[in-house]
Amino acid sequence: PSKPILGADLPKCLQRVSNIVAVSSCKGGVGKSTVAVNLAYTLAGMGARVGIFDADVYGPSLPTMVSPENRLLEMIAETKTILPTEYLGVKLISFGFAGQGRAIMRGPMVSGVINQLLTTTEWGELDYLVIDMPPGTGDIQLTLCQVVPLTAAVIVTTPQKLAFIDVAKGVRMFSKLKVPCVAVVENMCHFDADGKRFYPFGRGSGSQVVEQFGIPHLFELPIKPALSASGDSGQPEVVADPLGEVAKTFQDLGVCV
Ligand code: ADP
Repeated sequence: PSKPILGADLPKCLQRVSNIVAVSSCKGGVGKSTVAVNLAYTLAGMGARVGIFDADVYGPSLPTMVSPENRLLEMIAETKTILPTEYLGVKLISFGFAGQGRAIMRGPMVSGVINQLLTTTEWGELDYLVIDMPPGTGDIQLTLCQVVPLTAAVIVTTPQKLAFIDVAKGVRMFSKLKVPCVAVVENMCHFDADGKRFYPFGRGSGSQVVEQFGIPHLFELPIKPALSASGDSGQPEVVADPLGEVAKTFQDLGVCV
């Protein structure tokens, strides 16, 4: 078991969590949740104790992407803490498991809800808590990053130029917060058909991010119909290539797997 490195200043519920890893993107629809959830299950497949925190209050994806038996979070009255639900050994928290939520919330309210879910959940002993960040770099994201010390950030992007501009904003946010961005996942980079490789969104935005910001690792995740189907059916996958490689970049920071 790994040694908790986050320290005793944290809210009690997070004190036995060794590493908190943010999976972030600046735009919606680039595959951030797909990477976050499958990265978490890949880490679990490597023997780590893992939790997923779905911080996207407006569009929670986790309830679709996993199939826990218990789809409602439980509140413990005496301690006023929340019991996460669980699927295949991974602990799960999402606003989508909180029952009938409010669809319309102002930013500060959303930040409050996120902070409460994150800091009053009984996470127990975890090697990794993977946070599926809401898309963007606004107040909600900033507050979240300030509530807990992040071990590392993984940035998800697609190969378009437009995505590069957005990603740069994300990289700057983490760098201001002194959180190491350890990897860029260039998602939906290509697909193979009839023995040929196609690049429907062009090439090169991911490598530009790596070069410009000195992020050590770039991983390409191709368009895989099976990955989309697994997300829709609630059956997350261990994706050794390349998410197992992303997991290994955490070791470069001296953290456990
Ligand atoms: P985001 O969290 O960035 O909004 P999602 O992870 O929800 O994006 O992905 C958007 C859609 O694209 C989902 O339907 C997902 O299954 C699909 N998808 C994401 N990455 C891939 C991939 N590499 N191959 C096939 N489908 C993918």
